[in-house]
Amino acid sequence: MDAFREHRVSDSMFIPTSGYGYDDRGRDELDRIWADVMGAQAAFVRHNIVNGTQALSIGLFGLLRPGDLLLSVAGKPYDTLEQVIGITGQAGDGSLKDFGVRYRQIELQNGGIDYEGIESVFREEKAPVKVVFVQRSKGYLNRRTLTVAEIGELVRFVKKRSPKTYVVVDNCYGEFVETEEPTHHGADLIIGSLIKNPGGGMAETGGYLAGSEEAVRLASYRLTTVGVGCEVGASLGMNKSLYKGLFYAPHTTANALKTAHLAAYMFAKMGYDVEPSWDAERSDIIQSVICGTPEKLCAFCRGIQAGSPVDAFVTPEPWDMPGYADQVIMAAGTFTQGSSIELSADGPMRSPYTVYFQGGLTYESGKIGIMSAAQSMLDSPSV
Ligand SMILES: *Cc1c(COP(=O)(O)O)cnc(C)c1O
Repeated sequence: MDAFREHRVSDSMFIPTSGYGYDDRGRDELDRIWADVMGAQAAFVRHNIVNGTQALSIGLFGLLRPGDLLLSVAGKPYDTLEQVIGITGQAGDGSLKDFGVRYRQIELQNGGIDYEGIESVFREEKAPVKVVFVQRSKGYLNRRTLTVAEIGELVRFVKKRSPKTYVVVDNCYGEFVETEEPTHHGADLIIGSLIKNPGGGMAETGGYLAGSEEAVRLASYRLTTVGVGCEVGASLGMNKSLYKGLFYAPHTTANALKTAHLAAYMFAKMGYDVEPSWDAERSDIIQSVICGTPEKLCAFCRGIQAGSPVDAFVTPEPWDMPGYADQVIMAAGTFTQGSSIELSADGPMRSPYTVYFQGGLTYESGKIGIMSAAQSMLDSPSV
């Protein structure tokens, strides 16, 4: 509310621009509001970033140069980044690896950051590590979500030993769960999708990057082109939904969290292992339930779908999704296609058949959705 007032948000900022989109006040002011809200020096928010993966690519390609090292310190990054980095995929497709960017990874130790591991990579490398990359939420892994305080500790550790190293955070699903973001603790870039928490269920599509002046400028050159950065880009009438989405985001995220707490309690009572537990502190909106068998995983997803306001009549099936190594089953009966701040569930078809569940625009609809998932699991035969 303070940021909206200080930046004098008014009706005229919602007017669409076309062509180059020069002097789009709504777009430019929204970037500044985002920077303020995220505790960052700068930010850009764009409806034409197609998803979180592209937003992350913009950040990584913006900062990394041939010969540089990308060091992931929370284990393997999100599935869709594997091809971007060049961990999987074909040589010649234009991954970071194709451009000579090296990649190393450090696993979490007992769910936390392995500082000795980072220290030894810093010692082994001749040049400073260019990017330390950390994923806040668990993604499709059975691991803990990192808190903002833990990421802040990482930032201080890295900056003390190597002030030039950029700390980049995959912030997907974390926004507005805590009162601060990693940028409040000095992260150089936080990156995410607008059809998750920070779009508040209002943004039609898009992504954001926020962080230090320098990192955001370099990323903006990758968004458009060198020298042009954030000064162009027609908003085409999207500004209003992005403003409204940011306005709603803390509230919508709170509803998703309440739904997740209830789901954790219910499925634990039903005998499933859940992470996090109902009474744990949270740093993202994801609730995982270990279903144990492919049948139960599919039953959970069918129940979520049947309990949705849109497309309740369709049956989700496991499928080969672009960018994912295993087949994935996804349930999303959403107003905005694939939006996962809306009630949605997905899981890769691999043991132990964990379903990752998130969202719920309102607590009331979220509750109906998880009751439907629970019923569907009870109805599905045990094998
Ligand atoms: C959703 C997500 C992404 C990006 O996924 P998109 O489907 O491309 O938006 C990246 N990392 C994590 C941890 C995510 O949850």
